[in-house]
Amino acid sequence: MNHARTQLPMPVNEPVKEYEPGSPERETLIKELKRQMENRIEIPVMINGTEIFTGNTVQTVCPHQHGHVLASCHQAGPKEIRAAIDSAMAARQEWASFPYQERASIFLKAAELISKKYTHVLNAATMLGQSKNVFQAEIDATCELADFFRFNAWFMEEIYSQQPESEKGVWNRIDYRPLEGFVFALSPFNFTAIAGNLSSAPAMMGNTVVWKPSGTAVLSGYYLTRLFKEAGLPDGVINFIPGSGAEIGNILLAHQNLGGIHFTGSTAVFQNLWQGVGQNIRNYSAYPRLVGETGGKDYIFIHPSADLDQAATAAIRGAFEYQGQKCSACSRLYVPKSCWNGIKEKLIARIEEIRTGDVMDFRNFCNAVIDKKAFDTITGYIQRAERSPECEILAGGSHDDAIGYFIDPTLIRCRDPFCESMREEIFGPVLSIFVYDDDQLAQTLDLLDSTTAYALTGAVFATDRKAINEIMERLKFSAGNFYINDKPTGAVVGQQPFGGSRASGTNDKAGSSLNLLRWTTPRTIKETFVPPIQVAYPFMAH
Ligand code: NAD
Repeated sequence: MNHARTQLPMPVNEPVKEYEPGSPERETLIKELKRQMENRIEIPVMINGTEIFTGNTVQTVCPHQHGHVLASCHQAGPKEIRAAIDSAMAARQEWASFPYQERASIFLKAAELISKKYTHVLNAATMLGQSKNVFQAEIDATCELADFFRFNAWFMEEIYSQQPESEKGVWNRIDYRPLEGFVFALSPFNFTAIAGNLSSAPAMMGNTVVWKPSGTAVLSGYYLTRLFKEAGLPDGVINFIPGSGAEIGNILLAHQNLGGIHFTGSTAVFQNLWQGVGQNIRNYSAYPRLVGETGGKDYIFIHPSADLDQAATAAIRGAFEYQGQKCSACSRLYVPKSCWNGIKEKLIARIEEIRTGDVMDFRNFCNAVIDKKAFDTITGYIQRAERSPECEILAGGSHDDAIGYFIDPTLIRCRDPFCESMREEIFGPVLSIFVYDDDQLAQTLDLLDSTTAYALTGAVFATDRKAINEIMERLKFSAGNFYINDKPTGAVVGQQPFGGSRASGTNDKAGSSLNLLRWTTPRTIKETFVPPIQVAYPFMAH
């Protein structure tokens, strides 16, 4: 037993590789892309470290080439779902008793594996399975994921060091215990890093996890499970069960040992999960922790003093990177009338520079949306806007799903600030614009704040400092991540802890100690060195 008071290495953000033509990282990645394209694999369910091939499979395809099958993914049924819970419960005690330095070591090793051996594997799987360009895959599957592991280890140590005061003769301590039960992690399709964080953050704090990946991100999810194993994560700590969300949800929510839910995805699914917990509330041995980061309808507000080149670039990058499939994507833009002519041409010119297509062609900025359902939903919004007298399509609007689910980046000018594309999360490459009267600025801020149920990210572009302060104050509750003269996407772990409130989630800030705290149930310990032996107090003397 090592009793030294150790200190974890100070985390630094993983550097972003450039992938310029001719660079060694580009050559290696291309080889890995070819390998994954040419070798169809079987993705198993992974319970207690054992791969299970259930035979009930779903095909994993490239969204940008949906005729190409990357993998057959074996689905967990009721038997495997129950086995995953049993495995998590069986692994709990030993994992919780691991010295925290050992838990940290496993995830620090995982970060190094991501940084080196697995970088091309995870980037390629994310590019092919989730249709991301190389830069989007790199900042997600390599950089953000490695950052989550390194920073969370650091935050864990920081939490454990937070201890109460003790008066003379007494020693007070806090024991940050893991939750009493298993954690149910459910991940979305759009970020490999989020999938890694949802499953690992509770595990970092000594919990064991049943992880249901998104059906459209199982390829990167599978490589993540291999990475965890190689990093030394004991069997049973994170159990990987691809399958039907509803079926898995029903069984897990009804289990008396559900300790918590770590969710990222749509608002509707999180609300269903919360409702399911409510229905089962009398069955649980402890109140489950509910942590959910959900949808957004994120905005950029342009003030008349803004630099329009900067604002136009931020709007285009913020709206269309990864085809607008980021919860933080800019999907509504408020422009003062005095700036409209100036920025309109800049927006259209920048959109015209964007190429959309296959991830293997590195010139493409945009790739495909995730699946047929998303394609139909997004194009439905575009078609209704085309028909609406309140809307005008300024750029894009075309789409084609013959080979892949491609939708051109689309700009819609909305005359009605409450029309559906200004209000609802579209989760695709669609940016809706409302032009406001300069003398209606205050009313427009009220309008912006009350247009949607969400409050995830938002940005203001202005050079007038007084205006920035006023706008920031007025929009205080409209976003959990607020940006001044920057796009509302691209939060970096350790720098901009991420999450929103209202319908956007519980705002437990992924990538910060606030999130990790939710995976502990602290026990306060008071030790009195010389306990009193008399019942009477001094005031009772006469
Ligand atoms: P989704 O809600 O469809 O799926 C999320 C997870 O829930 C998946 O694993 C899915 O299989 C599972 N699921 C779906 N239906 C279920 C059910 N009935 N019971 C149990 N589980 C079920 O979300 P998605 O399409 O994968 O991701 C996009 C959504 O995620 C968007 O709304 C986006 O804004 C949100 N998102 C939010 C953040 C954030 O930090 N706030 C980050 C990324 C994505």
